[in-house]
Amino acid sequence: MIDFLIIGGGIAGLSAGARLSRHGKVTVLEAEDAIGYHASGRSAALFEESYGPSSVVALNKASASFLRDENGGYLTPRGLMLVGRKDQGRIFDQDSSDLNMQVIATEDALARVPILNPDTVGYAAVSDSAFDIDTDRLLQDFARNIRGNGGDVLIRKKVTEIRKDGQWIVVAGQTFEARNLVNAAGAWVDEIAVLAGIAPIGITPKRRSMARIPAPGGHDVRGWPMMLGVGESWYAKPDAGKLLVSPSEADPVAPQDAYADDMVLAEGLARYEEMVTEPVTRVEATWAGLRSFAPDGTLVLGPDPSDPSFIWSAGQGGYGFQTAPAASQLVADLATGTPSQLDTGIIAALSPERLRR
Ligand SMILES: Cc1cc2nc3c(=O)[nH]c(=O)nc-3n(C[C@H](O)[C@H](O)[C@H](O)COP(=O)(O)OP(=O)(O)OC[C@H]3O[C@@H](n4cnc5c(N)ncnc54)[C@H](O)[C@@H]3O)c2cc1C
Repeated sequence: MIDFLIIGGGIAGLSAGARLSRHGKVTVLEAEDAIGYHASGRSAALFEESYGPSSVVALNKASASFLRDENGGYLTPRGLMLVGRKDQGRIFDQDSSDLNMQVIATEDALARVPILNPDTVGYAAVSDSAFDIDTDRLLQDFARNIRGNGGDVLIRKKVTEIRKDGQWIVVAGQTFEARNLVNAAGAWVDEIAVLAGIAPIGITPKRRSMARIPAPGGHDVRGWPMMLGVGESWYAKPDAGKLLVSPSEADPVAPQDAYADDMVLAEGLARYEEMVTEPVTRVEATWAGLRSFAPDGTLVLGPDPSDPSFIWSAGQGGYGFQTAPAASQLVADLATGTPSQLDTGIIAALSPERLRR
């Protein structure tokens, strides 16, 4: 008998599975040909402790030591630079304070990122607390943990039917029986809830597109910080000697295998180009992923009030990797009745119960 049957082989399902595999038999079911195929394979892979609403920041802080130290560490320094146009002073002040950033002179910003355009950039701030996360290794290590503790991570297992008859009976090509069900299906969590006869929580998947461009002007971009336009209007992040540029859109869409919207991408690239001296001459690749949000914008973690054997790990939004160590620990603690290290106020802010009132 499976103790914890987890639907979804992204970072939410695999991290929860790794934690739960110390408490019982875990099986992860992933519909696609590979783990991390959807949102978890398409992220910008950034850890920034101050990014997100307060309950997310609490999870970021509680995740930092795991990401820094576990298995040799998953973080490498990146740094973040916020840039604003000369007419964006007010929004720049708000963003730089929200993100705990240090305001610097535009000349200093240019010294760090020589393609910034002195004619348009009026404001800059930096943070040293942003890191690249080795997301592939994190996913693989959590999957290895599950297998090492006697669990299974199964691909090409799309869940099509769920019933409860004393225990959960789940059909995904073959039939699985389990004491507890963990819903970590990303953009599809509400569809899974409906299949299981549990009320949905109102998750909205939001598309975010990305383009990979060659290093601007042939510069060595590896040591550049991630650049962020004020109001999260675009960002550009060095990646393996190239630059990833995103329009930072958050367009609501149905759950799907997302693809980049060309028009949105073109507008975002134009917002980036306005702030730099090197035009975008070639786009090497484009893609998009879905960031899935609960109505109040924070994660949904823990047993459903109507049936505690149905456990949510949902609504990871744009924070799924940076919060994964603490979020998965909380899911496991709540599922096994283990006291959590997190404050009760934070646990309540993340609980499915808050969405049922
Ligand atoms: C462009 C972009 C940039 C981002 N940048 C960052 C960042 O810098 N830092 C950060 O921390 N986060 C970032 N994120 C967010 C992060 O990627 C997500 O929060 C995280 O990947 C969500 O993980 P998940 O496991 O919930 O979802 P997913 O990775 O989508 O996994 C859910 C899985 O469930 C499976 N599934 C669905 N239905 C079924 C079914 N019926 N049967 C079986 N399996 C099913 C799907 O196939 C899927 O693989 C970004 C996201 C995007 C899109």
